[in-house]
Amino acid sequence: MRTHTIDRLLRQAAGREGIISFAGGLPAPETFPHKALALATSEAIEEEVGASALECASPEGRLGLRTLIATKMRSRGAMVQPDEVIITNGAQDALAIAMEVIGALQVQVDRVTYPGALDIFESAQCAPEARLAQPVTYVMPVISNPTGATMTPAQRLRCLGAEVIIEDDAYGELLFSGPPPRPLLADAPDRVYFIGTFSKILCPGLRVGWLIAPAAVRAQVLAVKARRDLQGGGLSQAVVERLLDSPEFEPRLEKLRAHYQDRCDRLLSSLVHLPGVRFQTPQGGFSVWLETDLPGSDASWLYTALENGVAFEPGQFFQADPQPDQPLAMRLSFSSVPIEQLEAGVARLDRVLRRSRSRAA
Ligand code: PMP
Repeated sequence: MRTHTIDRLLRQAAGREGIISFAGGLPAPETFPHKALALATSEAIEEEVGASALECASPEGRLGLRTLIATKMRSRGAMVQPDEVIITNGAQDALAIAMEVIGALQVQVDRVTYPGALDIFESAQCAPEARLAQPVTYVMPVISNPTGATMTPAQRLRCLGAEVIIEDDAYGELLFSGPPPRPLLADAPDRVYFIGTFSKILCPGLRVGWLIAPAAVRAQVLAVKARRDLQGGGLSQAVVERLLDSPEFEPRLEKLRAHYQDRCDRLLSSLVHLPGVRFQTPQGGFSVWLETDLPGSDASWLYTALENGVAFEPGQFFQADPQPDQPLAMRLSFSSVPIEQLEAGVARLDRVLRRSRSRAA
């Protein structure tokens, strides 16, 4: 399991003093709206005694929250109604439900993709395939994790040719500039499973996400949700509903985008000086995908990096079919590294790469 291994590596990294960690892909904790969360939580507890926030409720989730999400989706061009939205425990839950309903044996993925999705495909006994086109495809059209890339119009068109599309929009609201684009859902509502989450724009600990599935399978989706865990967390939903309904929500998103863009820019301004590496400028999100010209095992690279005070996520975790002899690649997450440490982190990485290069010469 990729996510489990990454988690183990991260815990090891966190246990070492002074490590600058580009691993994790976590939101910056200083962006969490502590006061607003505390207020919304106490309001929800006081105002909703005996109501759905604290009681068992329906598997689709709170109507108020679903209504706000539907409005959000409509503002992006997808004509979604509240009863089409199913609240989940984060995007991960939404993806697992979608995969159970789709029941595919193979799924098309990008050359590098989100490891948590690869784990779900594995447990659903569905083989991820990066090379040959498959009828079912998993994509992140707005912002890819790990590359930060946005789909071109031609890629969108090609993608819309698939029979079933799993559209993971986890970073959809964190495009650095411009409004969140039109989702694929807007163009193919009968074939798209759209996945959204508040993990990246509020905080992941709330565990609130959503799934919009094609109308033909909605009853099945609800049955799967109810069988898995009865419903999403009621209190978290009530809290998110209050925050999403507040006039401060949109200005907060603007601030978040600027916050992450600053970090991204600062990281890139150091990375351009690293010899022998390639990367694409992210359009948003939390991370940069870095490819090097150095051969070797990704995991042993990470251990060497840890010895030198820096951590990253080895590239093999992001690939459906990593090859043993491929050059080292890595995801560098800038999202939760204090901005003043980014340069020092890259300097440490540089040291590790230079040493290995001179050893290999
Ligand atoms: N999809 C992508 C692309 C992600 O990066 C993540 C979180 N790392 C998820 C889904 C899962 O997010 P959540 O916390 O909402 O379950």
